Amino acid sequence: MPKMTVDPYYCKGCGLCIKACPKKIIRFSEEINAKGYHYAECFDQDSCIACKLCYVTCPDVAITVEK
Ligand code: SF4
Ligand code: SF4
Repeated sequence: MPKMTVDPYYCKGCGLCIKACPKKIIRFSEEINAKGYHYAECFDQDSCIACKLCYVTCPDVAITVEK
């Protein structure tokens, strides 16, 4: 089963992955990371198709996608 995870430490809250996801299953967390950013999170892992568009879009390599 596909699984997308964001490492909060590296996320700068730019939102590019949210725009890139064709399934629209990424949002900003209500929590903030150590740098003060609302980091991205996948809220519906079951709908992830492991297309990796979020992974290739993230400028800070904060995203991991597993199949
Ligand atoms: S791998 Fe694709 S479907 Fe899954 S969260 Fe990333 S962009 Fe969305
Ligand atoms: S593209 Fe990367 S840095 Fe930007 S919000 Fe998504 S995970 Fe965070």
